Amino acid sequence: MESIVQALTDAYAQTWQEVLAGAIIFDLVYFAAGGVFYFYLFERRTNGLTLQQLPRYIVDPHLLRRTAPIEDARQSARIDRRSWLLRFLWAPPLTALATTLALVFGVFLSGKLDGWLGPRTPVSWPEWAILLCQVGTVFVVGDFGNYWNHRWMHRVPIYWSFHRVHHSAETLNYFTGDREHPLEVLPSVIIQGFWNGLGAGVVLWATGTSLQSGTLPALVALGVVWHIRTILYHSHFPLSFGPLDYIIGGPIMHQLHHSAESHHFSRNFSVQLFIWDWIFGTIYVPAKGETFRLGLSEEELGKANPHGTLKGLYLEPIQNAWRVLRCNGNRDRA
Ligand SMILES: [Zn+2]
Ligand SMILES: [Zn+2]
Repeated sequence: MESIVQALTDAYAQTWQEVLAGAIIFDLVYFAAGGVFYFYLFERRTNGLTLQQLPRYIVDPHLLRRTAPIEDARQSARIDRRSWLLRFLWAPPLTALATTLALVFGVFLSGKLDGWLGPRTPVSWPEWAILLCQVGTVFVVGDFGNYWNHRWMHRVPIYWSFHRVHHSAETLNYFTGDREHPLEVLPSVIIQGFWNGLGAGVVLWATGTSLQSGTLPALVALGVVWHIRTILYHSHFPLSFGPLDYIIGGPIMHQLHHSAESHHFSRNFSVQLFIWDWIFGTIYVPAKGETFRLGLSEEELGKANPHGTLKGLYLEPIQNAWRVLRCNGNRDRA
């Protein structure tokens, strides 16, 4: 128990604050650099945009790409920004809960496996190899869990009631990745905590090692990379990684996941590695230049968007979930 408390103290007090503070700055720089790069390569040449429009393009690219009527796009972006601010009130404890659950469950499980299958002789690998093995296993098992968690969000009607908040965005920008309902995030962190803990428990037992001091910071750093990707995913830069879209997924792959068009529904659930969509047959690689409207569905755009206000964004999912419980609510989009 003491080692768990110690690991948690290290993770939060020393690593998290520094890494996350750095991440916000890095995010902004990375996002802006992506914007400048894309602007120069595509927009400036094809649409003849001027240099004076560049700052506006970076913070509000949808205004120029016109994926939605301008007023609908502006309202969607406004709600993104407000919900992003409000998120600070409830998200940090839930993030902490995910890490705590993963750590406690991981250590508990490896102890149980010791009891059930007998302890393993500790591997005699160099420290860096043990670290790599621990981080790699937790990452891959956790990401497999991410894929299924996201698939369940779309498949389980009550879970979808809350995940709809993320999909009701009609434009993508810096804040859209964090457009989530707390009642989606709560079950989500518990499920993620379980999968990450499962990865940790199995690798600790199989290698006969204890948690390396660098494992948590490395996983936090990976979380930062994830966050940066989330920002590029929620942008209008239609970047594809070519054949690598099947393995790591370019931003275009997640942008497609936000399509309001029914033939795009239930595709591209992967969060980090896109091999999961490939393996389980849910991958959709958009054709070059393929465009689509973003949002919940073609019937719930603009004035019909149930989350056109902050109040709607927080309350409508609860009403929807209540209707689902009484068996006549919005079903999943499969
Ligand atoms: Zn989704
Ligand atoms: Zn998204």
